[in-house]
Amino acid sequence: MCHTRLMRYWAYLVAKLVAAAGILWGTRRLMAAVMPPPETFMYMRVGDPFVTDLTYTFCMLLFWLFGAGIVWLIVLDQRYRCRACLRRLRMPVHTGSWTHVLFGAPQTEYICLYGHGTLKVDELQISGHQNPDWKANEDIWKELYALEETKR
Ligand SMILES: [Zn+2]
Repeated sequence: MCHTRLMRYWAYLVAKLVAAAGILWGTRRLMAAVMPPPETFMYMRVGDPFVTDLTYTFCMLLFWLFGAGIVWLIVLDQRYRCRACLRRLRMPVHTGSWTHVLFGAPQTEYICLYGHGTLKVDELQISGHQNPDWKANEDIWKELYALEETKR
C-alpha cells in the first residue's frame, strides 16, 4: 500500500515535468516561428549588424531561464506535498531557535491535514544541501489496522 502511494507521488512529479516540457516545447516552436535564428548566430559576419544576434541570444537566454524557473518551481512544490495524498502540507511550525543552535537547530515542521505525516525542513543548511525529512504517521495506520483486527 505504501509502495503504491510513493509511486503515485513520483508519477505526479513526472507528469508535471512532462507538462512543463510540453509548454516549453510549444513556446520554443512559437519563438522559432516569430523569430527564426539569424544566419549569423554563433558566428559574426563582417559588416553584418551584430544587434540581431544579440537580441536572439538574449531571447534564448530568457527562454532557458524561464525553463529552469519552471522546473525549480515544480520541484519546490513537490517538496511540500504529502507523500501519501499529494495535498499541500500545511501549518508550518517553527522549532528550535537561532540563538540556541546547539540545543536544537531551527526547523520548520509541516503536517498533512489528513494526518499522513510530518515534514521537517532544516532552516540552517550547514553541511550543504539537506533533504527535508519526511516521517509518515505510522501510528495512525497502526491504529487503523489494530481497529480492523479487533473487529474480526
Ligand atoms: Zn496526506
